[in-house]
Amino acid sequence: MIYLDNAATTQPKKQVVEAMLPYLEEKYANPSSMYEPAIENQRIIGECRQTIARTIGAEEKEIYFTSGGSEADNWVLKGVAHANRERGKHIITTQIEHHAILNACHYLEEEGFQITYLGTDQNGQISLRELEDTIREDTILISIMAANNEIGTLEPVREIGRIAKEHGCLFHTDAVQMYGQLPINVKFLGADLMSASAHKFSGPRGCGFLYVREGVKICPLIHGGGQERHMRAGTENTAAIVGMAEAAKLASQTMQYRIRRETYHRNYLIGRVLREISGVHVTGHRKQRLPGSASFWIEGIEGESLLILLDMKGICASAGSACTTGNTEASHVLRAIGLEEEQAKGSLRVTINENVSIKDLDYFIEILKESIESLRNS
Ligand SMILES: *Cc1c(COP(=O)(O)O)cnc(C)c1O
Repeated sequence: MIYLDNAATTQPKKQVVEAMLPYLEEKYANPSSMYEPAIENQRIIGECRQTIARTIGAEEKEIYFTSGGSEADNWVLKGVAHANRERGKHIITTQIEHHAILNACHYLEEEGFQITYLGTDQNGQISLRELEDTIREDTILISIMAANNEIGTLEPVREIGRIAKEHGCLFHTDAVQMYGQLPINVKFLGADLMSASAHKFSGPRGCGFLYVREGVKICPLIHGGGQERHMRAGTENTAAIVGMAEAAKLASQTMQYRIRRETYHRNYLIGRVLREISGVHVTGHRKQRLPGSASFWIEGIEGESLLILLDMKGICASAGSACTTGNTEASHVLRAIGLEEEQAKGSLRVTINENVSIKDLDYFIEILKESIESLRNS
């Protein structure tokens, strides 16, 4: 099997699974209990929080563990909206966000909040000028992703952070795709809140974190016991938290190597596909994109049919986001960057990690050529 769908999820590293196992077996004590093994688990969770905080230049008390990226995103939208509603009811986001953001925004609209969904240019980047023009007196939050999951495009988050600060709005970035792939420092970016998810950086599924800058007003997500400083109740998933911290540590240790390798491999892949197959177009920004992300739209084919042919040859790829698979609607991201419905349906996303070799890519390109040819001739 050649796995080229790392934006959907990643294989957990061996060290991650090994670090987790003791907490699934003998170290099962509830961290809130009063005996030694429990206190030890509480201590380990604190260490993990410290590890995660260091990777983004934050303080330990600014990190909250969640069940993943969707939870962190929902928490930000609802928690910030509800805690700041007397300051205003306007929120700015983009048309290309993950559904965890978009659908939470739609929910808030029903409650009377007003949301502006910024469009993007054909590369998938927002306009800073338009952002500034959109900010109102009653804008409480700007939520813009750091990197897009379908087309890999990076948003100008540092400039967005500066603009948000100048206008006194909070800035949240969904960094689920960027965290672990590119360096992030929340102070440098000027982010007040940031979401990440362990399974996107070789950690376990069902675990993520939210960074909340000290002093930001946000309502608790889950009421119950006092866990996560009374903000997100529920007995901690110690094993997953340990796995996520291990994955975060490994990701930051190997980051520079992976950036170089994946950028080279991605450029090799895009270069060969464009040269050797006619009627193929890159989607997303050519340079300002995640190192391991390549995405295309292909003339005269259906993305879904192509995926089936690739799958028959042992290749796992995607037509866009995992969440839209099985849904025949064209991707909202590809529509937002200006593709027609028919063009958007011919999309292909290939997301590599450091395990993918040039040999794998060569095999993939041969199969891709054959598959496109057979679809076009059928
Ligand atoms: C995967 C993803 C999410 C959702 O994260 P989960 O941990 O799967 O809930 C949110 N935003 C982006 C950009 C993603 O890629």
